Amino acid sequence: MHILVVGGAGYIGSHMVRYLLDHDHRVTVYDNLSTGHRDAVGSAQLVEADLSDFGAIEQTLSVNSYDGVMHFASFIQVGESVVDPAKYYQNNVTNTQNLMDAMVATDTNHLVFSSTAAIFGDPEYIPIDEAHPKAPINPYGRSKWMVEQMLDDYDRAYGLRSARLRYFNAAGAHPSGALGERHDPETHLIPLILQAASGQRQGIKIFGRDYTTEDGTCVRDYIHICDLAAAHDLALNRLIATGQTACYNLGNGQGFSVKEVIDIAKKVSGVDFEVTDADRREGDPATLVADSTRAHRELGWTPEFSDLTTIIEHAWRFEQKRIKRP
Ligand code: UDP
Repeated sequence: MHILVVGGAGYIGSHMVRYLLDHDHRVTVYDNLSTGHRDAVGSAQLVEADLSDFGAIEQTLSVNSYDGVMHFASFIQVGESVVDPAKYYQNNVTNTQNLMDAMVATDTNHLVFSSTAAIFGDPEYIPIDEAHPKAPINPYGRSKWMVEQMLDDYDRAYGLRSARLRYFNAAGAHPSGALGERHDPETHLIPLILQAASGQRQGIKIFGRDYTTEDGTCVRDYIHICDLAAAHDLALNRLIATGQTACYNLGNGQGFSVKEVIDIAKKVSGVDFEVTDADRREGDPATLVADSTRAHRELGWTPEFSDLTTIIEHAWRFEQKRIKRP
């Protein structure tokens, strides 16, 4: 198959590209390199362009006949989305609509879209299945939920079929240590913790110890980045085989508190870094855990690296390589 990976130079996108290349697919990456890294796309062909440029994405889609498009190019920081919502609606919604319109114009009918647990807002029940009410509490979550609704409309009106994958907490790195998380600035818990362990930052702050969880810190469902990549491949295959739009919640179905993540990271790294308390971060629900029964049943998806220690070991391997780079 020939797949267009939009945002293929970023954290999740680059692992997807690697997965597809390892499984003998042909891959073209479309990325403006605003937050991604050229060296992360490996041997895939890179089209360096922006999704705001309708002509460029339409041209890219008309040059080849793609079996599917995977779309990872979005802004992902909840806090920033509150301060600068225009940035999020412009890129995550308007630019995504450009991609959807270009797909319709070129008769490219299969899209795998990166969605998020943030579309659910404060959970009404745990674990969260696909039917859970959608009530996002920040512009980031709203931007993703808007696109999901647009995709339903495009499906009905234009026959654009999609698989929407709602990630819980993407984490870890390629087992080889060759690829990993390189956000700038970094805001995610596990890479921040490991930067503390490697001496790249002072320590780690726990954002809130007064949540209604067992130890008072937030509980999240961490899913290995390579398991996410596998789910995309399965979702695209099913989409092509059935022609049916679908959505899937992707997580391991097991929650870990911030404190538990820190304790595991201390064991994995062997470093007793500094941990301090801080105020709650705005927009953080106490607990987010996925019910991924549908993905297991319909896609035959079985995470390979479901153990959090393994996820952190892989991220630690990448962190150690990262700090040695020139
Ligand atoms: N977190 C924290 N300290 C940090 C960064 C994150 O305590 O320096 C907490 C955050 O409040 C949340 C959890 O770690 O409860 C996971 O946050 P992350 O940003 O990694 O992912 P999110 O859940 O926002 O997608």
